[in-house]
Amino acid sequence: MCMANYLLNPMSVSERIVRRTMMVLMHPDATPEQVEEVMTHITSHKMHALRLPGDQHIAIGVASAIPPEVREQLTANLTTLSGVDHVVQISRPYKLASREFRRVDTVFNIKGVTIGGKECIVTGGPCSVESREQIFETARAVQASGAKLLRGGAFKPRTSPYAFQGLGKEGLVLLKEVGETLGIVTVSEVMAPEDVCLVTEYVDMLQIGARNMQNFPLLVAAGKSGHPVLLKRGPSATIDEFLLAAEYLLHHGTDRVILCERGVHPIDRTYTRNTLDLNAIPVLKHLTHLPVFADPAHGTGHTRYVPAMARASVAAGADGVMIEVHPDPKSAWSDGAQSLTPAQFDTMMRELRLVANAVGRSIE
Ligand code: PEP
Ligand code: MN
Repeated sequence: MCMANYLLNPMSVSERIVRRTMMVLMHPDATPEQVEEVMTHITSHKMHALRLPGDQHIAIGVASAIPPEVREQLTANLTTLSGVDHVVQISRPYKLASREFRRVDTVFNIKGVTIGGKECIVTGGPCSVESREQIFETARAVQASGAKLLRGGAFKPRTSPYAFQGLGKEGLVLLKEVGETLGIVTVSEVMAPEDVCLVTEYVDMLQIGARNMQNFPLLVAAGKSGHPVLLKRGPSATIDEFLLAAEYLLHHGTDRVILCERGVHPIDRTYTRNTLDLNAIPVLKHLTHLPVFADPAHGTGHTRYVPAMARASVAAGADGVMIEVHPDPKSAWSDGAQSLTPAQFDTMMRELRLVANAVGRSIE
């Protein structure tokens, strides 16, 4: 069921983010009464307790600043309550996204494709879905070369109102058809909270684009949908802002989130559209358990630089890459200048496999 209509609920004071807090992780078999006892214990200290969903544990966050003098005692007391597994101190502004909260990598499966595991997942496809022929031809080609995910924009965030805005629902219908026919996982951008329900009906994963990384109503609606989300980094966003955007998704109910570095504003636009922030890949892998992808197409803006930056991304530890592919880039309706032909994509895949193997990963 689509849950996007819940998005207008105001956030309560207990949901405000505080910089340093702690989380109580309950045993997987803790009873509701034990959870309640922990909540009551926290509130009896005049602090807000916030219940957080988790895949194995129920976690209870202390969503208030904790005076340093009570931290140690509170931790000790909470640890002794029945049903409590352990208490973790969280120093990051984001909580659920942090490695302090969850030490092991998040690995999830969408229609048989494992994301965040040993295999690097390549996403290929056109910037925009243009026609049945174009999307089928591209999908067949990228799949044959080893791509596991098919991308294709139907709602396009264009700088100019006169530029092609995407086929909208018609594009989504084509993506569903191609996804089902070829058995390939599909991802497409959603730009407006009110479109979240529609897009979840047609594709396997929502993309939230760079320009919308801090569109909070959209993050809330996408989070509440429970659908997997590929979240792109805003071109001027700091790492903390990026992770706080992911925190919105996790907090509102999606636990399958991919972070995608796609280039930040460059100091020199002469030769590249953006600067793919390769630093962000190991930094994010250190700070968060979420899978990290890189998009060297938007990161460079030029076909000729895409394969090199894709290789660099895999070498830097990316769990996947997103590549724009078009059967005839010079006639593409958007982003042709940074798109690979199917033949160029195939060559890039052969090179990427070597790099992946060299760093202990694989690409099928
Ligand atoms: C896209 O993926 O086509 C796109 C518009 O990306 P970004 O949001 O990173 O600019
Ligand atoms: Mn594009």
